[in-house]
Amino acid sequence: MAQKQKNEEKESPEELISYLSDPSEADKKLIKDAYAFAQEAHKEHKRNSGEPYFVHLYATAKGLAEIDMDATTVAAGLLHDSIEDVGVTEETIEKKFGNEVLFLVKGTTKLGKLKYRGAERHIESLRRLFVATSKDIRVLMIKLMDRRHNISTLQYVPEQKRERIASETLSIYAPLADRLGMGRLKRELEDASFKYVLPEEYEKMQKIMKENQQTRQPQLEEVMKTLKRNLAEHGVKGFRTESRIKGLYSLYKKLERKGGDMDKIYDLYAIRIIVGSVEDCYRSLGVAHTLWHPLPGKIKDYIAFEKPNGYRSIHTTVMTNVAGPVEIQFRTEQMHREAQYGIASHLSYKETEGPLDRGDKKKNNLWYHQLIPSLLKGSPSVPKKKAANVPKWVDDLATAHNMDKSPNKHEKYLQDISDDFFSYRIFVFTPKGDVVDLPLNSTPIDFAYAIHSEIGDHTSGAKINGKLVSLDTTLANGDIVQIETKKNSKPSRKWLKFVRTSIARRHINNTLSRIRKNDTSESKS
Ligand code: MN
Repeated sequence: MAQKQKNEEKESPEELISYLSDPSEADKKLIKDAYAFAQEAHKEHKRNSGEPYFVHLYATAKGLAEIDMDATTVAAGLLHDSIEDVGVTEETIEKKFGNEVLFLVKGTTKLGKLKYRGAERHIESLRRLFVATSKDIRVLMIKLMDRRHNISTLQYVPEQKRERIASETLSIYAPLADRLGMGRLKRELEDASFKYVLPEEYEKMQKIMKENQQTRQPQLEEVMKTLKRNLAEHGVKGFRTESRIKGLYSLYKKLERKGGDMDKIYDLYAIRIIVGSVEDCYRSLGVAHTLWHPLPGKIKDYIAFEKPNGYRSIHTTVMTNVAGPVEIQFRTEQMHREAQYGIASHLSYKETEGPLDRGDKKKNNLWYHQLIPSLLKGSPSVPKKKAANVPKWVDDLATAHNMDKSPNKHEKYLQDISDDFFSYRIFVFTPKGDVVDLPLNSTPIDFAYAIHSEIGDHTSGAKINGKLVSLDTTLANGDIVQIETKKNSKPSRKWLKFVRTSIARRHINNTLSRIRKNDTSESKS
């Protein structure tokens, strides 16, 4: 409670503005106006906790400001519940704050009460969120920050609703944050909902963490000291170190994968070395490997091969005498920022390229910018069409539902999106070097449909790393996949037995039934 008091004292439009990088007068006015408007509109409105509702709006806006989102998004954060909860009209929002803010507020607004009911309404709301997201990614950022505050105040929510919100956060919102590379938010969402979804397991993980802390912490400090001294001796300058503790949910998932064997978990604690340049990452890795033997198979170069969500760092696990196996991670300041804020670190117009970031040139993240129509055109506007070149998965989230013709499509939608988008992913390459990311155990057919349905439908063969393979071969990380097509090739029913993605499955089914219909009508004529 004491902390809440403190936050309330600090609430002010000025505080929000203080986070914006180089705000214009118009930006400042927008925040001040939205602040006053939201405060007034929600005056009589209370949270389940009994607090003024505005606390929630402020927390959402502040979360957005902290990750460096623009003034428009922060203002929309303040206004995001005004249409849904207190009956402010769309016209009012548009007149006072413009159509860009209106689009963002509408994108985060759940469906009206009439058209859909129960689970169906809920899922339709999610789908609409994804459609709005595929036009402007800032909609999703608002929703994520909204969820972050809601989940932190879940103890006040009625039990049944609490469970639904927690499990939805764990199965959809946390993985979304992960896909957007927002490591810090992902972890916050996971650990806050884990507590409610699996309370016993949560406590078990907490206990493991505590038990390990006492023995582990002093050992790691020893290792850190040795490493720091040696890095300095080998000319690595201006680095800093930190230790990172694994999130409780992340530990739980890993333990599950390792059959519950704590001895196979080397990264409960890890040492992080944050250096000034990419060169220093490799130099530091060399120093660590000279000091200690690396464990085979544990060296992961996510700088040369970044993860599909943009994560970059080098990880290694070395065998130390004082602490046994220890994971060490190497990254630059910029990679560190990106690992925490992900996509958000690319969204602000001004990339803050400090002197430390030299030699650490930005990869092509044009698609992020294309998800913000106003950035692209330089003037505020309501996106009419889907932005070009959005990542396939954002697009698929928005359209997966439309392709499904089956009667129980609502129930299947949630299962499909969690299977396809949020399970373990691999990334493979086209012959031109474009990255395609797919769920684990995907096949060349899944790859072909991920590229384009026409390619999938006409696949006649596939090569992996230049070698002809059968179409049910499982793809591995880093494979180069080449699809051969023939004009008269068509999908086979057999493919349904091994394809991994629901998108491929739906395309195959749709095409097969279309062919069947054509055949029937041809034989009739
Ligand atoms: Mn809200």
